[in-house]
Amino acid sequence: VKLNGGNGAQAYNLDMYQRVQQRVLLEQDLKQALQLNQFSISFQPQMTIATGALYGFEALIRWRHPVRGMVPPDEFIPVLEQSRQIVPLGYWIIEQCMQQCLSLLHSGWHHFRIAINLSAEQFVDPDLIPTLKRLLDKYELQGSYFELELTERTLVQSIETMLTIMPQIKAMGIHFAIDDFGTGYSSLSYLKKMPMDCIKIDKSFLSGMLENAADFQIIASTIAMVQKLQLQVVAEGVETREQLELLRQQGCDIAQGYLIARPVPQAELAGFLEEHFPK
Ligand code: C2E
Ligand code: CA
Ligand code: CA
Ligand code: CA
Repeated sequence: VKLNGGNGAQAYNLDMYQRVQQRVLLEQDLKQALQLNQFSISFQPQMTIATGALYGFEALIRWRHPVRGMVPPDEFIPVLEQSRQIVPLGYWIIEQCMQQCLSLLHSGWHHFRIAINLSAEQFVDPDLIPTLKRLLDKYELQGSYFELELTERTLVQSIETMLTIMPQIKAMGIHFAIDDFGTGYSSLSYLKKMPMDCIKIDKSFLSGMLENAADFQIIASTIAMVQKLQLQVVAEGVETREQLELLRQQGCDIAQGYLIARPVPQAELAGFLEEHFPK
C-alpha cells in the first residue's frame, strides 16, 4: 500500500504504525497458540568433541503460525517475555523436555543432558522451584538430566535472587549454563559467585574465528579460563570442519551447530539418534 507521497516523516510514522499493529496481532495470536497446539520443540544435539559421542541436546521452541508459517523464536520470545506469557509457556517447555527425557531413557539412551533456555521472568517466578520439584517427582527423573541456560542479561538483573534460587535448584541435581557468553555484561565475578557448570561461547565469535584474530583469541582464552575453573565449555554455531578442528586443538569440550546437527523436531528425534548416534 502506498499511502504517502514520499514524505519521510509520514513514511516513518506509517512504518511505526504497522509495526505496532503487527505486534498487537502477534500478541493476540500468541495468546491462543499454546491452547491451539501451535508450539513444538526441536532438540539440537551437542557432541563431545574428543570422542564424537552424543553429549546432550538444547531444547528450542518452535511456533507454527496458521498463516505466517514458522515464526522464529527471536521474533516472538521477546513479546512473550514482555507480557509474561513466557512463564506458563516456559513450564510447558520444561514438562515437554521431561517427557522427552523419559522417552529417551525408555529407548535405552542414558548418557545425555537436556538444556532448557530460561527467560529472566521465569527464573524469578516463585513457582519455578516447586514446579521443577513437582515435575521431577511426577516423571521420577533425576535433575541431573537437565541444564538451565541463563543469559548474562538474566544474571545481572537479579543477582541477589539468583544467589538464593540457584543453590536450591542445584540441590535437585540440575545444572546451570551461561548462554551467549561474551555478548552481555560479561563479568568474571559471576563465574566465581555462582554455581555454574557450563559456559556456552556465543556463535557470533565462532562465525569470525577463522578470519578474525580477535574472535579467535576470545574463544581460545575463554576455553582456557573455563577449564581452569573446571567448568564445561560448549561452542555454539559450529558450522565447518575447520572450526571444529580449531576448537579441538584449543581443548573445547562440546560442540553444537549445523555441522553436527540442525535442531531435530521432537517426533523425529528417536529416529535421528538411531541413525547418527547409535548406542
Ligand atoms: P540461543 O539460545 O542462543 O539458541 C541457539 C540458536 O542458534 C538457535 O536459534 C539455533 O537454532 C541456532 N543455531 C544452532 N546451530 C547453529 C549454527 O551452526 N549456525 C547458526 N547460524 N545458528 C545455529 P533459534 O532456535 O532460532 O533460537 C533463537 C533464540 O531464541 C535462542 O537463542 C534463545 O535465545 C531463544 N529461544 C529458543 N527457544 C527458546 C525457549 O524454549 N525458551 C526461551 N526462553 N528462549 C528460547
Ligand atoms: Ca540457548
Ligand atoms: Ca546461545
Ligand atoms: Ca541467543
